[in-house]
Amino acid sequence: MFDRIKKAFSNVIKKVSTKELSEKEIDEIFRELELSLIESDVAQDVIEDLEKRMKQELVGKKFESNDSAQIIIRNWLRDYMLNLFNKAGSIDIVERIRVSNKPYTILFLGINGTGKTTTIAKIANMLKKEFTVVIAAGDTHRAGAIEQLSTHGERLGIRVITQRYGADPAAVGKDAVLYAKAHKIDVVLVDTAGRMQTSKNLMDEMSKIIRVVKPDLKIFIGDSLAGNDTINQAKEFYNYTNFDAAILTKTDADVKGGAALSIVYVTQKPIIYIGTGQEYDDITRFNAEQFVDSLLVSNNV
Ligand code: GDP
Repeated sequence: MFDRIKKAFSNVIKKVSTKELSEKEIDEIFRELELSLIESDVAQDVIEDLEKRMKQELVGKKFESNDSAQIIIRNWLRDYMLNLFNKAGSIDIVERIRVSNKPYTILFLGINGTGKTTTIAKIANMLKKEFTVVIAAGDTHRAGAIEQLSTHGERLGIRVITQRYGADPAAVGKDAVLYAKAHKIDVVLVDTAGRMQTSKNLMDEMSKIIRVVKPDLKIFIGDSLAGNDTINQAKEFYNYTNFDAAILTKTDADVKGGAALSIVYVTQKPIIYIGTGQEYDDITRFNAEQFVDSLLVSNNV
């Protein structure tokens, strides 16, 4: 997992072999690092920020030996990344549900193919251990979307509220909330469409669902394999919906590793879970410290 970004950081750390870093040396390091970070799906904004801060904080810093210079750079990178994740905060969904009025409604946003349906099923499976759950089949556009969610619901023993294709997704969401109220269900998970004729139509539909359903939490689903597309989608969804958190899917197949940093940098919202496979249990809480340490692990310094 994430081999490319690990290698990029490892190379930058190994390159530092002076007793004092000059601006010119940081420029040289960055000339090479930039390309490997881009290849690891790290967004341009993050790369520029990293370079700017490195110059501000490390130029002229005196190191006792090559070893300690490398340790200082490693620790600096670690702090830089942790700070980025910490600034975004964190959200414990289970705890939030425990202390909130019921039903607690979660809206899932994202483009088709990113793993939205699978992730809703995984979250439903996780939450049903403690709460009662109902799912709203709010993607009334994509052929097969309603059946796909209904099949998950049958497998998990969770009711899925559906209407016909073409129905108003906001009405489906509202139906599910009313159903949950009537049956004292704790949690409503609302699926949404992931593709329309134009991005504006899609964003207008998301805004309407949010107005009507008034979700307690809005979660963006991003595909860690989709590179710049994921980052652009995160930006656009964030601008229109002001989502609260993101879930990054398919990290088990991600050889690059830059998506998490990029999404958090551009949205300032936390990644709360990562998808690690295709089964219901393949979802893990995102742990920034563990993640950052795993990116810097191959450095032997
Ligand atoms: P949707 O169109 O966004 O609802 O996407 P789906 O939930 O249908 O998922 C698209 C594909 O991605 C399916 O084959 C899923 O099994 C797969 N998928 C979803 N999440 C993960 C994950 O975390 N890891 C892997 N390896 N595959 C995943």
